[in-house]
Amino acid sequence: MNRWQGDQLLQQWYAELISNHPERSSYSNIIEQQTQLRNILPQLIGTFATQDDHSITLLETVDCGTYIRKRIECSASPYSYFAAYVLIPKQITAPAPAVIAVHGHGYGSREIVGLLPDGKPDLNTPGIHQHYAIQLVNRGLITIAPDVIGFGERRLAEDMANHADIANSCDSLSSRMLLMGKTLAGFRVHEMLKVIDIVSDMPEVNSERIGIMGFSGGALIAYLTAALDQRIRATVLTGFPNTYQNSILHIHHCICNYIPGQALYADLPQWIGLIAPRPLFVEAGRHDRIFPIQGVQKAIAQLQQIYQQHDAEQQFASDIFEGAHEISGRYAYDWIQKKLAILD
Ligand SMILES: [Zn+2]
Repeated sequence: MNRWQGDQLLQQWYAELISNHPERSSYSNIIEQQTQLRNILPQLIGTFATQDDHSITLLETVDCGTYIRKRIECSASPYSYFAAYVLIPKQITAPAPAVIAVHGHGYGSREIVGLLPDGKPDLNTPGIHQHYAIQLVNRGLITIAPDVIGFGERRLAEDMANHADIANSCDSLSSRMLLMGKTLAGFRVHEMLKVIDIVSDMPEVNSERIGIMGFSGGALIAYLTAALDQRIRATVLTGFPNTYQNSILHIHHCICNYIPGQALYADLPQWIGLIAPRPLFVEAGRHDRIFPIQGVQKAIAQLQQIYQQHDAEQQFASDIFEGAHEISGRYAYDWIQKKLAILD
């Protein structure tokens, strides 16, 4: 008789973790709990050396009709440079609000600014990313779309040479970084923190009105960035908020979602809740199969509680739309535009 019960064991371990989460026992209030979580987070995601070279290289400038699209190159870490699109509406009064748009799995920043992988215009119906950087810039928001590590031209050279069929370098980067006590999520967040520095220094940008919007794997990076950096004043997370049990512990997900030990301290909604009391909008497709609706509803309920504990219920909003793992934006774009406009 086979007495191996690995499936049950995993469930039991997770149930024990949930019942042992510190907030259920020792923390006296939400502020204390969040301070502890925020303090432990950098250790969990790993730390990275910062780049001394703060120069920004302008790679191209394109007039796109209602906005100017620039492509810049910059760096957050020694030996590593990355490109980002900066979309600037023509009709703005500087300094204006800005949003950092973090793409998910795919071919990189071109996918959200309406371009094909080769840089030519994408004239097809938009995919799951919905060319969402264009949606934001058309609402008067300066929009910065960085190339996230591991996708498109930021795959490892060995993957591009030997595994052209593999769309990203998440696996090869993550597995090696984990051995060295670092996480790919942490490396990506490290670059987003540098992007905030760069955006803050732009003369067109009001540094008091910077938001972030991420989809799927980009929402993981967006929430961690907002959790760690108070300069992010409004956040939209699409196709990601859930419980661990209903999402990355239940369904196969890319290894870049897994941060060692993170579930020891809190479930995913509590980690996302570190954004509170700053404005947060959660969006999800009812038929998303990898971040299922049952987990979305639990996450929304827990986030509502966290915002109530901060007396900031009005700063949290959500939308469940009839769709799959994709961006809708039917309320989210206007929400972030309005939130950044009315900040004190
Ligand atoms: Zn990945």
